[in-house]
Amino acid sequence: MSEIDIELENKEIVKRYKALLRSCNSDITREDKGLIRKAFNLAVIAHQDVRRKSGEPYIFHPIAVAQIVAKDIGLGATSIACALLHDVVEDTDYTLDDMEKMFNPKIRQIIDGLTKISGLAEQDISIQAENFRKMLLTLSDDIRVILIKLADRLHNMQTLDSMARHKQQKIGSETLYIYAPLAHRLGLYSIKTELEDLGLKYTEPEIYRDIVQQLNETKKARVQYIQRFTKPIKERLKSNGLKCSIKGRPKSIFSICKKIKSQGVSFDEVYDKFAVRIIIESEIGNEKSDCWKVYSLITDNYRPNPDRLRDWISTPKANGYESLHTTVMGPIGKWVEVQIRTKRMDEVAEKGYAAHWKYKQKGVTKEGNLEEWVNQIRELLENPETNAVDFLEEFKLNLFSKEIFVFTPNGDLRTLPKGASVLDFAFDIHSQLGATCLGCKVNGRLVPLSHKLISGDQVEVITSKNQKPKKAWLNFVISAKAKNKIKSSLKDAKKAIAEEGKEILERKLKHLKLSFSDSVINELCSYFKYKNSLDLFFDVGSGVLTNSMLKEFVVNKNSWYQYLKSKIYRKTNKQKEQKEEVKYDTLVFGPTEEKLDFTYSKCCTPIPGDSVFGFTTIREGIKIHRHDCPNAVRLQSNFAYRILKAKWIDSNNKESIALLNIKGIDRVGLVNEVTQILSTNLKVNIQSINISSLDGIFDGLITVVIEDKQSLDSVIKTLKKAEGITSVKRKFKSR
Ligand code: MN
Repeated sequence: MSEIDIELENKEIVKRYKALLRSCNSDITREDKGLIRKAFNLAVIAHQDVRRKSGEPYIFHPIAVAQIVAKDIGLGATSIACALLHDVVEDTDYTLDDMEKMFNPKIRQIIDGLTKISGLAEQDISIQAENFRKMLLTLSDDIRVILIKLADRLHNMQTLDSMARHKQQKIGSETLYIYAPLAHRLGLYSIKTELEDLGLKYTEPEIYRDIVQQLNETKKARVQYIQRFTKPIKERLKSNGLKCSIKGRPKSIFSICKKIKSQGVSFDEVYDKFAVRIIIESEIGNEKSDCWKVYSLITDNYRPNPDRLRDWISTPKANGYESLHTTVMGPIGKWVEVQIRTKRMDEVAEKGYAAHWKYKQKGVTKEGNLEEWVNQIRELLENPETNAVDFLEEFKLNLFSKEIFVFTPNGDLRTLPKGASVLDFAFDIHSQLGATCLGCKVNGRLVPLSHKLISGDQVEVITSKNQKPKKAWLNFVISAKAKNKIKSSLKDAKKAIAEEGKEILERKLKHLKLSFSDSVINELCSYFKYKNSLDLFFDVGSGVLTNSMLKEFVVNKNSWYQYLKSKIYRKTNKQKEQKEEVKYDTLVFGPTEEKLDFTYSKCCTPIPGDSVFGFTTIREGIKIHRHDCPNAVRLQSNFAYRILKAKWIDSNNKESIALLNIKGIDRVGLVNEVTQILSTNLKVNIQSINISSLDGIFDGLITVVIEDKQSLDSVIKTLKKAEGITSVKRKFKSR
C-alpha cells in the first residue's frame, strides 16, 4: 500500500471519529470527551495494521459500533468508550488488567462481558443457541454489555458482504434467531428491523431480492396514494395549529416475507394495506389530548374501523412503547393504518428506553441515570408481572432463572441449577475432577468447595491426587450427578475398608478360638445390632469395633447363643449384584429431548448407540449422521441452523419424558399455578414449557420428566382439578 493511501485513510479515520463525537449527546462533558478520546487513541494503536475482510482498516469497525451505541441507542461516554475498545482484549495483546489500569473497573467489567460473549459465539450456535440466549439475559451484571453487543452485531451485519457464503448463512441465522428478538425485547425497534432485514438478506437471498424488487416497482404508486391520503389531513392539522410530520411507513422486508410465508398470501395482498405515521410536536402535559385531537380530525375525513383502535398512550406497552393506532378507510376503498404519536413517543419507539429515560430526566443523560434505566430493563427482564399482556412471554424467561450459566477457563458455557456450588461445577465437568477437587478459583479468586456460583462466573477447578470425596460434601452439592457420584464413591471407600476389616476380623476370631463362619458372623451382627456384615466389617476395619468389645462378645456368647437358638433370625441376604447392561434403543432430539421421526443417512449408516446428530433435510425430514461422518463438518459449518442435537436413550430407563398438552380458560396466575402443582406438589421436573394464549384460551405444551405411567396418570389427574383447566392430554410429538 502506498503512502498516499495511508494518509487518506488516516484522514478518513479522523473524519469518522469526529462524526462519532457529533453523535454524542449535546450535554456531554469535557471529562466524557477525554474518556472517549483516550479509548479511541488506544483502539487506533491496538488495531493498527489490522484490516477487516473488506480491506478496510480495522478501526473503522469499533468507530462504527461506537456510533451506533451513541446515536441509535443513545448511550453515554462509558458505553461509547467500551464500544471503541470492544475488540481490543479479544484481538490484541492488551489484557483486562490493562483496561482497569488505563480506564476503570467498570470499563473492565463491560469489556470482560463482551469478550465472554464473543468466545461463546465461536461455538456451534445451532446447538448452543438456546443457552446463548438465556445467557445473554442472565449473564450481564450490566445490560450495557448486551446493548454494545447488539451494536457490534448490527455493524457486522451491515458489512457482511465480504464474508464467505457459509459464514453469512451462519451469522445471518444467529442474528434472526438471537439478536433481533433481543433488540425487540429491549424496545430497540429500528435496530431490530434492520437486523431482521439483513438477516433475511443473507439467509434467504432470493426471497429478499424478490421482495426488494417488488417494493421498488410499486414504490411510485404507493407514494402517490399516501400523498393523496395525507393531503387533506395535513391541511386540517395545520389549520388547527398542530405542527406535524407525516411518514408513509414502509413495512420491513422481513415482515413482508413473514406475512407471505405464514398467511400464504402474495406480495400484492400484503401490500394492499397502507400505513402512515403522524408525528406531532407537543408539550409533555398536552401529549395525550393532542394525539386524540389528531385522531378526531382524521376520523372526520376518513371512517375508522372501531375494532382496530389501540390506545398505547393511556396504557403504554411494557417495553415503554406509546402510540395511538387506528385503521381508517382511505380513498378508493383501501384500509390505511394510522399511527399517531408525539415526537418524544416516536423517539422512544425507535430508540427504546434510552430515549424514554432522556425525556423523563429532561435531557440529563449522565451515566448515573443510565444506571437507573439499566435497572429498569433488568426489572423488565426479570419481573414477570410488569404487564399482564406480556405476562406469559415474560414468564417463560423467568423459568430460566432456575438455572445459572457459568464458564470454564476456556470460555465454554455450562448450565447448572440455581444454587449450585463450585463442587457441582467440578462434578459436572467430570466425575474424576469432582472427586479430587480441592477448591476452585472463581473469577480468579480462590473459594471453598461450598461456594455458590452465580451466572457469569468463570470457574477453574483445583485438584489434588490425595483428595477424596467426603460425607460432608453432600451438604453443599445440589445436582443429582454430584450427589450420586459422591455417594457411590463413599460406598466404594466403605467397601475397601470393609474388605480390610473382614481380614482383621478373621484373624481376631482365630485368636479367640472362634471360626470365621456364617453363623458366627450372624451372631456378631445380632449382638452388635448391625444390619449386615458389610457394616460389621467396616467398623472392624475402621477400628470402631475394638478387641475388648469382641472379648465381651465371647464372654456373653454362650448365654447369648442359647437365647438366639430360640429365635429365628434372618440371614443377611447378599445383595444381588445388579449389573445392568446399558441399552440404547430410542433417539431423542434437541434440548427438550423430543422423539421425532428420522431416517438413517446412507453416507455413514449409523447404528443405535453411535454418537450422532440430526440434519433437517428439505424433502426427507430429519436424517441422522454420525459425528465422524465424512460429510459432518461440511453440514455443520454450512448449515449450522439445520443441525439438531441427538441423543440415544434407553426407553426402559426409569426417567422418561412426557409431553402434556394443557388447555383451559386463561386467567392471571394460571401458568404459575400449573408449574406450582408440578414442581411443588407432585415434585415433577419440568423440562420445557411452551404456552400460548389466544382470546382467553390457554394452550400449553409442557415437557415433564417422569418415572412411570402411574405417576404420569396422577400428574394428569391433579392438573385436571385445577380451576380453569379443561383438558390435559398426553401428546407424543410437539409438532
Ligand atoms: Mn466487533
